[in-house]
Amino acid sequence: MSADVLVIGGGPVGLAAALYAVRSGLEPVVLEPRAGTIDKACGEGLMPGGLQSLLELGVDPQGYELHGIRYLARGRFAEADFTAGPGRGVRRTTLHEALSRAVAEAGIEVLPLEAAEVTQDDAVVQVRTLDSARPGPTLTASWVVAADGLHSPTRRSLGLDRDRPPRPPNGSRARSADAAEQGTAGTAEAPERRYGLRQHYGIRPWGHHVEVHWGVHGEAYVTPVADDLVGVAVLSKQRRSLDDGLAEFPQLRERLDGAPVVTSVRGAGPLRQRTTRRVAGRVLLAGDASGYVDALTGEGISLGLAHARAVVTAIAAGDPESYERSWRVATRRYSLLTHALVQVTRPAWGRRLLVPAAASLPPIFRGAVNELARPGR
Ligand SMILES: Cc1cc2nc3c(=O)[nH]c(=O)nc-3n(C[C@H](O)[C@H](O)[C@H](O)COP(=O)(O)OP(=O)(O)OC[C@H]3O[C@@H](n4cnc5c(N)ncnc54)[C@H](O)[C@@H]3O)c2cc1C
Repeated sequence: MSADVLVIGGGPVGLAAALYAVRSGLEPVVLEPRAGTIDKACGEGLMPGGLQSLLELGVDPQGYELHGIRYLARGRFAEADFTAGPGRGVRRTTLHEALSRAVAEAGIEVLPLEAAEVTQDDAVVQVRTLDSARPGPTLTASWVVAADGLHSPTRRSLGLDRDRPPRPPNGSRARSADAAEQGTAGTAEAPERRYGLRQHYGIRPWGHHVEVHWGVHGEAYVTPVADDLVGVAVLSKQRRSLDDGLAEFPQLRERLDGAPVVTSVRGAGPLRQRTTRRVAGRVLLAGDASGYVDALTGEGISLGLAHARAVVTAIAAGDPESYERSWRVATRRYSLLTHALVQVTRPAWGRRLLVPAAASLPPIFRGAVNELARPGR
């Protein structure tokens, strides 16, 4: 089988890239080994820019309107409203269903295969696949978009991983990503590395803001995703259970007290993934696969959707190198602000001062929130 564009990964970025490809007159095929509706560790807050991108693609997932961001710590809070229109809290399963529906309506094929090896010459890319861990067909495409997530095996096999040596993937994704997905407890503390866990509670949301509770060791952020459902994600450099993570947020625990827990814990990490380049010949990285800073600013999906649009523009123009530039433009703002926030809040004094500082400088807090929330191009 051959396609104009083979998209590796049927997460939000891969599916959006396929939709953009069809709009540009290209014929995409998506590879996604996970069957059914895909869930994932995520804070599930779609920033206004990301929501607008989805709506432009004709994808309108149900969710809960978000009006802004609220930071809280030790009885103090700082709040900033979005100025570019509302965002939306959307369950990942709802988002996946909405995108999958649009993909099916556009006639895009999603094959239940895992990309195992990518080779290329000047004219084509060949992707060897695995079908339920057994050898599958080898597919040919003019271009490959690798949107295979945080631990992208394609990125690593092409030597685009800044922090790890290249390794042939051969199905290794399943082991590394799944281990991170377990959200297991553990006490080992890895400096520089941060991890995320999430779970949902069947409770009526108490506001229309994403709440970020700042603790000594981590942050808990709360996103309403339906009239009767709230997601809680805990980020920390420690690998610990969600209950241990929540222990440092008594105010939040009180809110959640007695609410039914309606999903199992999911985890992801280490969050920080750096890339040397985003383009290797005819293979282009998008979404988390192209690099990730941290989940703290809830920008991943919105940014990935901007990548999806940019990667298809570059492919349609037959100018892959232009994607390096458009990727940088789309990513710079998010990368600088998120990195700065992670750095500033690494020392204990930074964490202590952040919320009082944000509360006493509302224009600066509002400016930072809206820099991240505005639509990316
Ligand atoms: C704790 C946490 C909280 C977050 N909170 C938010 C938030 O509030 N808002 C926000 O916008 N973002 C948030 N993010 C980030 C967001 O989840 C990601 O940015 C987003 O999922 C990226 O989408 P993606 O399509 O690039 O990757 P993914 O969603 O990871 O999808 C990748 C897909 O590729 C598939 N795949 C992997 N390997 C292969 C292979 N070899 N062959 C074929 N397919 C393969 C996988 O099965 C998967 O379906 C959060 C992340 C974490 C960890």
